[in-house]
Amino acid sequence: MANLRLDNIYKRYSKGVMAVKGVSLSINDGEFLVLLGPSGCGKTTILRMIAGLEEVTKGNIFMDDVDITMLPPWRRNMSMIFQSYAVWPHMTVYQNIAYALRLKKMSPSEIDRIVKDVADMTDITKYLDRYPNQLSGGQRQRVAVARAVAVKPKIFLMDEPLSNLDAKLRVSMRTELKAIHLKTGATTIFVTHDQSEAMSLADRIVIMRDGKIIQIGTPEDVYHDSANMFVANFIGTPPTNFIKVKVSVREREIILFNEDFKIIYSKESAPGLIPYDESDIILGIRPENITITKENDALLKTECLLVEPQGSYNIIVTKIVGKIVKIVVPSEIKIRPGETFYIKFKKDTILFFDPKTEERIREEKIS
Ligand code: ATP
Repeated sequence: MANLRLDNIYKRYSKGVMAVKGVSLSINDGEFLVLLGPSGCGKTTILRMIAGLEEVTKGNIFMDDVDITMLPPWRRNMSMIFQSYAVWPHMTVYQNIAYALRLKKMSPSEIDRIVKDVADMTDITKYLDRYPNQLSGGQRQRVAVARAVAVKPKIFLMDEPLSNLDAKLRVSMRTELKAIHLKTGATTIFVTHDQSEAMSLADRIVIMRDGKIIQIGTPEDVYHDSANMFVANFIGTPPTNFIKVKVSVREREIILFNEDFKIIYSKESAPGLIPYDESDIILGIRPENITITKENDALLKTECLLVEPQGSYNIIVTKIVGKIVKIVVPSEIKIRPGETFYIKFKKDTILFFDPKTEERIREEKIS
């Protein structure tokens, strides 16, 4: 186990693409850290630089405070698991797991004990004599995990390891990976572009965009305290609803309004909004923080355009100031398309964003 620190890392590929632009990051011993972001944002490049498979253009990487920036991959004591499994087709599962242990010149009895231990942990004991082409995708991925665990690396690097699996298997392998992480306690860096995978696995999530870190935080942080509109939109399904409002600062109050509704704050509760007097801002509200209510308690009346049943809850689609807004309601609430209903916002969950920079307007928390 180990901790890892990236200090202002840059990567420029030979064709001039600046794939990583000044990334600094600390990963704690035993932590499960997820790098999350859209395709092409530089996640894999970061992972490959950590593994030593890609040269660092500028900056340094430290493991347990030792500079490993120039260390060759085989001296870094890390295991990497790829999307493509990368298990050897001409070896049985047993041989696949034992291979790296043989290279370490361990005794056959010790190798046998480790192979059986990790096979048990990853639930592949009954496949030890099979070849990879006699296994399903999920089983093959478990072999890749078993092989990585067997060498007891200081750090696990995983590059979209679940993305070749079908949706159901992905979810069950997630749970297994998490269980294996709990057992091994190994520092893990996991790359994905799937936000729900990131939310369910991570101790902390690093959200990236265009070669830069946009936000680092626990799943709760990035969900409830999104740093900007990109994060608020990228995390959560359905994503945050964004609604334009105009700010009017009065003597004691701040009024946010548009043609559909008006919300009033005291000046003390939302001082961050004062500089926006007479300007537009964007209000962000998560679909579950819009609630259905009675007329006398409502913020506005709206019409149901569509219902998307999800089993345990329903998504109601409506429009506010002409824009689609999604509301998550318990499945017992029956509203049909064409019906009108009353809603209000959970005021203390509302986030405000600057429409030009798309960054959060801070100090806006209200009670
Ligand atoms: P994905 O989720 O699609 O795997 P990613 O976030 O992992 O994407 P990277 O694979 O790190 O992104 O790529 C970051 C940027 O660097 C992209 O613009 C990509 O086209 C570019 N890139 C990656 N590898 C090379 C290379 N060998 N030569 C030149 N450009 C590259």
